[in-house]
Amino acid sequence: MKRLLKLLAVVLLVALVTQTPFIYRRYQLGRLNAKIHELNNERAADADPVYADHKGVIHVHSFLGGHSAGTFADITQAAQANGLAFVVMTEHPSGDFDTRALTLRGVRGGVLFVAGNETSESDADRFLTFGGTASGDAPAPSSTQERIDRARAAGQLVFVAHPETFRSWREAGGFDGMEIYNLHADAKQINRPLLFFDGLWSYRSYPHLLWTRFYQSPDANLRRFDELTGGAAGRKIVAIAGNDAHANVGLTFQDLAGHTVFGLKLDPYERSFQVVRTHVLVARGQALSEENLLAALARGHAYVAFDILCDASGFRFTASNGTEQKFAEHKLMGDEIARTGAGVRLRVTTPVRSRIEIIRDGQVVNEARDVSSHEWTANEAGVYRVVCYLPQLSAPLDAKPWIISNPIYVR
Ligand SMILES: [Zn+2]
Repeated sequence: MKRLLKLLAVVLLVALVTQTPFIYRRYQLGRLNAKIHELNNERAADADPVYADHKGVIHVHSFLGGHSAGTFADITQAAQANGLAFVVMTEHPSGDFDTRALTLRGVRGGVLFVAGNETSESDADRFLTFGGTASGDAPAPSSTQERIDRARAAGQLVFVAHPETFRSWREAGGFDGMEIYNLHADAKQINRPLLFFDGLWSYRSYPHLLWTRFYQSPDANLRRFDELTGGAAGRKIVAIAGNDAHANVGLTFQDLAGHTVFGLKLDPYERSFQVVRTHVLVARGQALSEENLLAALARGHAYVAFDILCDASGFRFTASNGTEQKFAEHKLMGDEIARTGAGVRLRVTTPVRSRIEIIRDGQVVNEARDVSSHEWTANEAGVYRVVCYLPQLSAPLDAKPWIISNPIYVR
């Protein structure tokens, strides 16, 4: 009996010691959740008279392309619950039927759906191709470049997906842009035992915040983006976020009869659509359509935001060189602008106070703290983009990007 009590005491002690960090973490997530609510309540309304900010998600799979059991109803409901304006579907191709033709397209429940595919060349070079017309995938393209050329000939947009595995950076040309963040790739790096205990304590109350456990700043992708856009050989490409939503990442424990004992889903659509979004700017007063959405995306009138930390709607990064007559003629992220004698005035606006970094060709050249609007003059040619942070959040989130803009090209 005495030995049994001793054993019990040891087991309890071990449980206490190992679980304390996860219990403390649950407390931290509660505080983070409250802070996020506070930030969202402080948001300034979007006062831009010229452009309207449409938030949406790109890179979404349904049951059609395998690896996912998600239905169209799941996806539509998740988009509505998140107040999304658009969803770009990118189904895996199938040998048996045309997944692009069969997936969601057009306006459903107030959400604009654009149909497309996620293709894979030699298991490394993956693309999101969407919009335009069908490109006829049989016979399969013989190279990465042929894939790009065919998609473009069909009027589709072509974005590099999964930049972490993409190989043909040097050879491939003509694609419109790249994912600078892929949520699925980030989620897959998670440490499963840690996730299990984290989930045990926090999943019920703060399922959406478990993402903060594995969020890595996409530094390698941003370096790649700066390399491709900067320097003498640099060209215009567009940065987007890939939600890569399948609703298939998580942990499930089943008993012998197949009943789920403990199930923890990291990426149901509703949550994936909440974490990160691509915002697209379209002239105010126009209804969002496939045509104006894709035109704005192609021009880079877009930015990536981790809206789960605070809805970034209303963020703007614009430029003027003094030759414009009206505010409507100011340049927007994605645009080119010519230098004049007085330099180019860059202007950043955020819906809540933030720390703003202005980056030129990959280097931080200016920083502003605790501001919701900031101006700075660029006197040198270069590729200028903006990253915003929320120091109001606790570490490590305070030092991880909240907003990542597309660049303004000062020539
Ligand atoms: Zn995918």
